[in-house]
Amino acid sequence: MLVATPIGNLGDVSHRAVEVLGAVDLVLCEDTRVTRRLMAAYGLETPLASYHDHNAARVRPRILERLAAGGCIALVSDAGTPAISDPGFRLVRACRDAGIAVSIVPGPTALVAALAISGLPTDSFYFGGFPPPRRVARRTRLASLAGLQATLVFHESARRLQSLLADAELELPGRQAVVARELTKVYEEVREGSIAELLAHYRDAGPPRGEVVVLFGPPAPIGTGDAEIDELLRSALRDGTLRDAVRSVVEATGAARARVYRRAIELQETSSQTGGSTG
Ligand code: SAM
Repeated sequence: MLVATPIGNLGDVSHRAVEVLGAVDLVLCEDTRVTRRLMAAYGLETPLASYHDHNAARVRPRILERLAAGGCIALVSDAGTPAISDPGFRLVRACRDAGIAVSIVPGPTALVAALAISGLPTDSFYFGGFPPPRRVARRTRLASLAGLQATLVFHESARRLQSLLADAELELPGRQAVVARELTKVYEEVREGSIAELLAHYRDAGPPRGEVVVLFGPPAPIGTGDAEIDELLRSALRDGTLRDAVRSVVEATGAARARVYRRAIELQETSSQTGGSTG
């Protein structure tokens, strides 16, 4: 049984997760100290055993034997949903291959929480896990995703955030980006802007503390050139404020906010010089 656990706020554990963690024979976890804190918070005393990247291949056969003999075992990770950038996939695969049923108690997962509050389009998204740590491989990966008409979502360490943004600025120029940090925790923060704006911020401020999910908006749909953006802006500016006009055109086109904002300012300036109408 896969059991999702909180990504920061212990209150986010589900009722069923607590029930299951209390009822199984054994809880497999990455770091027993982390999971023990969660178990203690809910008064649970089920035995824990380590299952992580370094011992998985060695202990998996014993786990399968125990499950095949009728044992009831839960798998959790340090945070969020097991098997998502965390150990679990190979164990699930091995269970399925052995005809052992696998079930899940779903719950928090950082990528979905970040996507949901990013304000970026959610109808189509691509989750890229952790980008390659090395520059050339990372740029190649970003370049290969540049044509996807989808929001791109990545796990990243705070330490490598600047490098990721710098490479994204080269491979996904002009896109809107969001850094969702410390979700559900005391210092939760969602910072948005063009990739260049966020890069400038973190160059000044230094790497943030804690955990981050990084998102890049989809490319502007084909046909959303300056002329189309100007036309939409002229019409929106006739009825509303600059701020509302920019927001509605960003939503309608998926174009980077900084680009739309620049065009809106230019249109307003031209309009005031020519004495009135924006079009
Ligand atoms: N299995 C986890 C899940 O379902 O969310 C993901 C584990 S992965 C090893 C850890 C990464 O998840 C971090 O580097 C960060 O990108 C993201 N993450 C986890 N908790 C987070 C949080 N509270 N706020 C922002 N990002 C978080």
